Amino acid sequence: MNHALTSRIPVLERWVSGPRFGALPLPEGGSPAPALSFEFFPPKTEALETQLWACIRRLETLSPRFVSVTYGAGGSTRERTHATLIRLVSETALVPAAHLTCMGASRGEIDEVAGRYWDGGVRHIVALRGDLPPGQTDVGADGYRNAIELVEGLRRVADFEISVAAYPEVHPRAASPEADLDNLKRKLDAGATRAITQTFFDSAVYLRFLDRCLAAGITAPIVPGILPVTNFAQAVKFSAMCGTAIPDWMATMFEGLDEDPETRRMVSVVMAAEQVRLLQANGVDEFHFYTLNRPDLTYAIAHILGVRPKVEAARA
Ligand SMILES: Cc1cc2nc3c(=O)[nH]c(=O)nc-3n(C[C@H](O)[C@H](O)[C@H](O)COP(=O)(O)OP(=O)(O)OC[C@H]3O[C@@H](n4cnc5c(N)ncnc54)[C@H](O)[C@@H]3O)c2cc1C
Repeated sequence: MNHALTSRIPVLERWVSGPRFGALPLPEGGSPAPALSFEFFPPKTEALETQLWACIRRLETLSPRFVSVTYGAGGSTRERTHATLIRLVSETALVPAAHLTCMGASRGEIDEVAGRYWDGGVRHIVALRGDLPPGQTDVGADGYRNAIELVEGLRRVADFEISVAAYPEVHPRAASPEADLDNLKRKLDAGATRAITQTFFDSAVYLRFLDRCLAAGITAPIVPGILPVTNFAQAVKFSAMCGTAIPDWMATMFEGLDEDPETRRMVSVVMAAEQVRLLQANGVDEFHFYTLNRPDLTYAIAHILGVRPKVEAARA
């Protein structure tokens, strides 16, 4: 045996001594593509408006189940959110959903905002408690105190489809995981038909959360909120605020890429694709994407999930 060969044997031993992993199953031919929804934020400037609409035009070809537009803390984007949704109604065939938070406003104000949506053709609300803007402590006189009360209020305004928020890693201000889960169940029992999760990076946490939801008697879909991360530093900051854990492996993935956006984007797509494929292999067939008004990563990941543009939409 020559020296070159013997020096390689320990390496090979190391490679074969660990567990063997099969590939993730690919969706079988003929199985339906998952249902998608996309989240946008209302633009502040003309340039951002142009960016948003380029994003919408690209993603609408994927025929999402609905697209939603966020609402700034304490209603700070009220008019911009409204304008974006009304433009979606008048210029696209998409099903628009308005995020609506109730902190810092009276019931009358919230009911009026909701009524304007209904009259403008928006029939789906993502109903949220929301947080007060920094520095504000007044929760508002006669306001809805939480998302349960908001859902109940919206049911009185009109026959909206209502989605609510869910927290696989528990809302940071919840009294306990059990109280948080009970809160989710009560929002659904009050009339919401779907929950969309806070973003998460550890899929096992989400899958365990589904088990807990089912054990608690929840039967509505708990749609995973997927955030394709391109700016790791920003994701760390955001995650700290909303109680999402950043696994160590994720920091390793982005290590040394601060000045290399192109590689970061590629790494990001691979990571998000692995995440959604694992969820899909576990039976999940609906996904909500936090697009950050940028279409490319979401489009690529949707493609990997088996979603293709409808020919008519692509030509339009
Ligand atoms: C899919 C999704 C979309 C979102 N969109 C928006 C948006 O467009 N605009 C926006 O401003 N925010 C948005 N948020 C953030 C959301 O408003 C916050 O997480 C908010 O703190 C809780 O809202 P909720 O509807 O889940 O509240 P609830 O369902 O009423 O409460 C959720 C849990 O948090 C606890 N909790 C919340 N606040 C407090 C508090 N002050 N004290 C004690 N316990 C508390 C409750 O007890 C409960 O356990 C979104 C979140 C998700 C997951």
